[in-house]
Amino acid sequence: MAVETIGDAFSLGWRVTVRCSYGRAEGPRSQSSRECNYRKELDMETLVWTRGRAFPLSRLESRLRCPRCGSRLVVVLYQPPRHAAAR
Ligand SMILES: [Zn+2]
Repeated sequence: MAVETIGDAFSLGWRVTVRCSYGRAEGPRSQSSRECNYRKELDMETLVWTRGRAFPLSRLESRLRCPRCGSRLVVVLYQPPRHAAAR
């Protein structure tokens, strides 16, 4: 089964973590103190409440913004539950 929406991911018990990549995408010289590595696990159920079950996973990344630095350069990491990943 292909998982394409946040409703699918929620039903399967997936977890979603967002990591800010601000200051990393601009080349090796930007390894400075301005780099933001903030990361946080999001509540999948809240996402479904706010976006609706049919919201595509692929569009989630472009809708998010880092609460610490305000950057939109964020990476979304999806983590299927362990028992499902073993199948
Ligand atoms: Zn940030």
